[in-house]
Amino acid sequence: MSSYLKPLPVPSPETEPFWRAARAHHLSLPKCGDCAMVRFPPSGHCPACGGTAHEWVDLSGAGKVFSFVVYHRLYHKGWEGELPYVVAVIELAEGPRILSTLTGIAPGDVVCDMAVKVVFDDVTQDVSLPKFAPA
Ligand SMILES: [Zn+2]
Repeated sequence: MSSYLKPLPVPSPETEPFWRAARAHHLSLPKCGDCAMVRFPPSGHCPACGGTAHEWVDLSGAGKVFSFVVYHRLYHKGWEGELPYVVAVIELAEGPRILSTLTGIAPGDVVCDMAVKVVFDDVTQDVSLPKFAPA
């Protein structure tokens, strides 16, 4: 049994390809077959044009910090001993914004627009979480 104490993703039919790719250390999202928008979160319909045609594409993993907050209060026992930590909105090079965690940097050193790259944290035998570190 895993000793990982934080919540784990429960893939849906729409998000399962995202989590399967993450397990293989690829950041992959659906790209609209009609307008080419890469979207997050994964969904059956394009939020830009409403189209349903799409293909899953591997992304570069590059992005920048769009916004962030530093958590100083414990909201879940899984983060016990890790305060403070950063939760950030990362604007990916391909356009979509993804909510994630920053790693490899002190919370006081994080600034908006800083370049980051995806890293994968193998938290269980079946789950790898995409996180971001300074590029
Ligand atoms: Zn579209």
